[in-house]
Amino acid sequence: MKPKQIDAVQVCKEFEDLLAPRLKLSALERAVYSHLLRHSRFEGQLRLRFSIVWLANNMGVTSRRAREAVRRLIDKGVLRLIERANIGHLVEVRVPGELRACRSAADAQPKLSDGANVEETDFLRTRGLRQAIHAREGGACFYCLRRTPGRAHCLDHVVPQAAGGSNSYRNLVSCCLDCNSRKRDLSAADFLRHLFRQGRLSAKDLSARLRTLQDLAAGKLRPKLSTTQDAASDPSKASRVAVDNSSAAPPPARVPLSPTHV
Ligand SMILES: [Zn+2]
Repeated sequence: MKPKQIDAVQVCKEFEDLLAPRLKLSALERAVYSHLLRHSRFEGQLRLRFSIVWLANNMGVTSRRAREAVRRLIDKGVLRLIERANIGHLVEVRVPGELRACRSAADAQPKLSDGANVEETDFLRTRGLRQAIHAREGGACFYCLRRTPGRAHCLDHVVPQAAGGSNSYRNLVSCCLDCNSRKRDLSAADFLRHLFRQGRLSAKDLSARLRTLQDLAAGKLRPKLSTTQDAASDPSKASRVAVDNSSAAPPPARVPLSPTHV
């Protein structure tokens, strides 16, 4: 049977991100799987016949360790044993997308109405997505906790884009214009400490904010998305929104070091 063509990059990502952690694969199991994958599916073959001695030599481990790793991969369903004979094992090497452990994890990834993965979504892409970040903060500045009514708020990159910060919901917060311009090139944690020293945050608020910052990076502060929010906003509609300055327009001049998006 000719296996369907696989996307090697995608397979590697799913293996590292989903399969290996879910199945708690050891370092040796990972190495053995990757090696067998390279000689089977990456060569367009579903099955591979190999000897334990060949595998052990290539892995630089004893035959016993190689045999045990293969056995565990079979037990975990990553390899399907077709035949075991004197000339070696004949196995079917499965890619992550063919395994239930991986599929269920992928299915659990939240999706936008257009099918995009929330984790990979650019939250500056549409006005609806930007509003979802504002809504998550509940109308308060992420840093100083002051209310930010109406247009007196903007989106700030916790890790600046210049330092590699992305437009993920994990790196965007709603804040007041004052904090946005004062933060400049400080890290978010340092800026919170600066606010504390200035008496604008209490010690209790500071420690709560620092915890929230960790939760943000860990993906625990995923914004709620409604169909209307995550739908790709009609660009013509976006252009009618006076506060929308994140599309083609450059950031406002008053915040030169931290791009602002409303
Ligand atoms: Zn503020």
